[in-house]
Amino acid sequence: MHLMSAQRLCDLFEAHPDQPTLSWSGRCHDCQAKVEVTATPQSDGIHISGGAVYEPTEGRFFLKCDACHRKDPVLRNFQACEVYSRVVGYLRPVAQWNDGKQAEFSLRKTFDRSLSVAGDLS
Ligand SMILES: [Zn+2]
Repeated sequence: MHLMSAQRLCDLFEAHPDQPTLSWSGRCHDCQAKVEVTATPQSDGIHISGGAVYEPTEGRFFLKCDACHRKDPVLRNFQACEVYSRVVGYLRPVAQWNDGKQAEFSLRKTFDRSLSVAGDLS
């Protein structure tokens, strides 16, 4: 689920004693609407309004608006997909290629032999 835990919220409040309210603003991960989520400690617990805050890895926050959080409380598709391809004879993650090779990768075309109308060439 990756929702920020109550313990983590308490830790953040302890780390920022000067801030009576914690807030996150940005875009909803699912619908891209502007979201501002606030967390305010009160006598009966921490009140969260405006949406949901996810922290799948420490320090990396994602927001969801209330509507999207109600529709699907699970944070999905937030990790970058590592793509490997062949470069100068080796299979390496494209993200680690130099700028010139990455530009060349973006120009590569993918062909699907099953769509060939000229018959099997093998
Ligand atoms: Zn949304």
